[in-house]
This record gives sequence, structure tokens and C-alpha cells, in this order.
Amino acid sequence: MPENYQLVETLLQQPLDNGDVVCNLCLWRCRLRHGQRGFCQAHVNRNGVLYNLSYGIVSAIEVESIRNKPVYHYRPDSRVMSIGSYGCNFRCKGCHNLEISWGVEALDKLARGQSTDAWVTPEQMVETALKHEVDGIAFTYSEPAVWLEYVLDVSKLAHEAGLFTVYVSNSFVTDEALELMAPHIDVLCSDIKSLSAEFYHEICPVGTVEQVLGSIKKAAELGIHVETRTNVIPTKNDDLDELKHIAEWIYGNLGADSPWHVTKFFPAYKLSHLPPTDNAIIDQTAAAARAVGLQHVYAHTDISCDCATENQPISAWLELNADALNAVNTCAASCCGDEGILVKKFERQAGLLVE
Ligand code: SF4
Ligand code: SF4
Repeated sequence: MPENYQLVETLLQQPLDNGDVVCNLCLWRCRLRHGQRGFCQAHVNRNGVLYNLSYGIVSAIEVESIRNKPVYHYRPDSRVMSIGSYGCNFRCKGCHNLEISWGVEALDKLARGQSTDAWVTPEQMVETALKHEVDGIAFTYSEPAVWLEYVLDVSKLAHEAGLFTVYVSNSFVTDEALELMAPHIDVLCSDIKSLSAEFYHEICPVGTVEQVLGSIKKAAELGIHVETRTNVIPTKNDDLDELKHIAEWIYGNLGADSPWHVTKFFPAYKLSHLPPTDNAIIDQTAAAARAVGLQHVYAHTDISCDCATENQPISAWLELNADALNAVNTCAASCCGDEGILVKKFERQAGLLVE
């Protein structure tokens, strides 16, 4: 495991004869030329090798109940240290903290070798979790697949230290990534955002509902404890019939005892004009799901999706000095000088670009 900040070769990369590399960490399966970064912005091709820019780069830490994830059927009274980095493979219009979850600016700085972000070794992260007397570590706030190398290194040490691991995901991940994760991840808390092709197309133009559902089912087959969550957004995915179909899918594919969390939307970003979800819709959805036969349906009127909110500074948790935390200012991928070709192109087309 690296002892200083550096680019880390990604797992699951497929080099091609012409110097391009295909990334197989998530279902974008980005094909990248030298200097290009993937849709998530966290990976860069340098001379035919794909590197992760964000290994050990921590955007947010929080200590909280596992119920906040939400996970109710795995060590229900336990506490977790939630951690996240920058970069996501989706662009949800209601995402709550773009600076942390998408992290476009932070990842641009890393790519230019100008970052002063906190860098934390896997050993320091596990030591910090033990110091705060939590029972597990949760990888969350954006899609953890975009820093899977770090997630796996931390998870292995966490298991050795007697901690469990939680992976909070949009499940737009490959089977290969799930197979790598399975021995080291105890719990998958996954979104099923909608069953509508249009809904997924809007936040991830190459994504399909079937891919997401397939990944969730695969995780369960691999023996990971799975709980699912749907954040009900007014006018976007609040059709009761469609929500009932989600419950039917869970019943048929994950089982009657598989937990489903129905959460409330709170306005953010491009969906700031929408109202918060009416509590009655949350309750009606839960009732419909119970009628389908699901035994563990939870109606949440107080929590939303899991993307990061404002947190304390990283130093509040790590108790390291500022020099140690802000050591990342050496060259990372500065030879490339690119601005993130794939994401900027998509975001311009979708009107989402944060300039
Ligand atoms: S979005 Fe990121 S993680 Fe997904 S395939 Fe592209 S480079 Fe890999
Ligand atoms: S809501 Fe979650 S999946 Fe969607 S863009 Fe934000 S962090 Fe990514």
C-alpha cells in the first residue's frame, strides 16, 4: 500500500494495442486515450496505463449510526465511520453536495498536481475508526467504485481489525468489480432510483435499469447482505404503480425478507424548484410494498439519499497535523493538461456543467 500520495494503477483495466485503455470498474466502461479522464473524473490514462487520482483523497468523514445509511438488518445498533472521496459515475440533478460528490474542481486540481486535499493512508483510516470506537467503515457520499483500489485496501485492514464494511452504491458497477469486492464488503446499501429508462438516461446516458438491477442481484448472489433504497422525488419517480413494481422486483429477486427503504426527497441543485416529498406518498408506497409481500419496508420521512452533506473538517476526525493532511501538491497527472474530456462533453449537452 502506498505511503505517500501517488497515482495508483487501477484494477480491472484493459489495455488496447493503440494505447487506449478500457476501465472496467463501472458500467460506463470508459475507453480512454492518453491524457483523457473517465466520466467520473477520478481516472486518467497516462501512456497506456490507467491511474486513479483519488487514492487516499478523502472529501468527507462522519461518525454515525448504521441506520443513517440506511441499513437496518445488519448489526442494527452499530456505529460506522462514513467516508467518501471525490467523483461519481452519475449526474443526478438532485445531488446534494456537488463539491464533495462530483468533486470536479478537486479532481481537476489533482490532475494538475495542485491539490492540497487531505491524503490518508488505509492504515491511518482504520486506526482513526478504531480510535472513534466505531464497529464498521461505510464507503459512501458518491459511488465508491471510482476509488475501489482504496476501498479494498481499507476494507482488508478493517476486517483484520474486526470492523465490518458497508458499500453505499448506485449499483452502476460491473460484475468484475463486485467479484473483487465480495470477500471484503459485508453490506451493500443500493439505490433503486426508478424503473424508468428515461429516469436513468437523464442521470447517466449510457445506463439502463436492467444493468443496475442486475448488479444488485449479483451482489446478493455473491453473499453480500443487501438493502435497497428508493428516494421518491415529486413528479420524477413518484408514480405509485411504478414504486409498487420496484417492490415486486425486490420480492421476486431478493426475497420477501429483503429490506427496502423509501426515503424523502429534499430539494437541491437542479431540482431546487421541486417541493420535498409529501409524507403521505412515502407512507402509501410503504403500504403498497407490504401488500406486495415485502416484510421489511421502512418509510423514512427524515432522511434523504446518501450523498454528502456538510461535514466537519477532515482534521477533526483524524487528529493529524495540517502538514501531514495537506501533503498532496506534487505532480500527479500534470503532463496531461486536460480538463476532463468525457464529463465536460456530457455535462455541456445535459446543461449540467458547473463552470
Ligand atoms: S466512469 Fe470512472 S469508474 Fe466508471 S468506467 Fe469510467 S473511468 Fe472507470
Ligand atoms: S445522488 Fe449519489 S449517485 Fe447521484 S450524482 Fe449524487 S452522489 Fe452520485
